[in-house]
This record gives sequence, structure tokens and C-alpha cells, in this order.
Amino acid sequence: MSLMIKKGDTVRIIGGKDKGADGRVLEVIPKKRRVIVEGVNTVTRHEKIRMSRRGSQEGGIAHKEAPVDISNVALLCPTDGTARAGYRMEEGGGKVRICKKCGTEI
Ligand SMILES: [Zn+2]
Repeated sequence: MSLMIKKGDTVRIIGGKDKGADGRVLEVIPKKRRVIVEGVNTVTRHEKIRMSRRGSQEGGIAHKEAPVDISNVALLCPTDGTARAGYRMEEGGGKVRICKKCGTEI
């Protein structure tokens, strides 16, 4: 069920230190079963400080999202904001992502 997440989806974090946070999926890493969610699981990186040609400082502290395990995220319904997504089977054998609460295709 968790692998239904796609880039650009809005998800809720349901486990880990950022539990309860909502964010947009920036990247899906299927091989590692991880996703990068905007503003979630941010890590601070210290980059080398250097001077640009114009004399201003570049680098320093940067905040970057680290991947979170896909089992810790749930797809949110854009209509009602619930995290009860599932699949509806189509007659031709395909499946469509839907919200189990209101039936919206996600
Ligand atoms: Zn819904």
C-alpha cells in the first residue's frame, strides 16, 4: 500500500520523529523504499564557507530533507485531508488510487 506514493503527492508522516507533519513528496526512491518530503526530516549540513568574487560569503549552514521510510508516510486525500487512500480496481484490470472515505481519485 505504501508504494502508491508518487512525486508531487501530499502525504502525512505517521511514524518517526516528524510524526504528524504534512508535506509534498519531492522525490521517491523505490529501490530503498524511501521518499523525500518537503520540510520533513531536515538535516543541517555545514558547507564550506568561501568568498564569492563580489566579496560576499557563500556556503555555511544548509538545511536539507533526508529520506524517510515509505512505511512512515500516508497519502492524503486532497479533498478532505484524510489519510485513507486505497485502490479501486477497474474492469480492464487497472487500478485507480482513491480516497476510501470520499471516493475522490487521487
Ligand atoms: Zn477523501
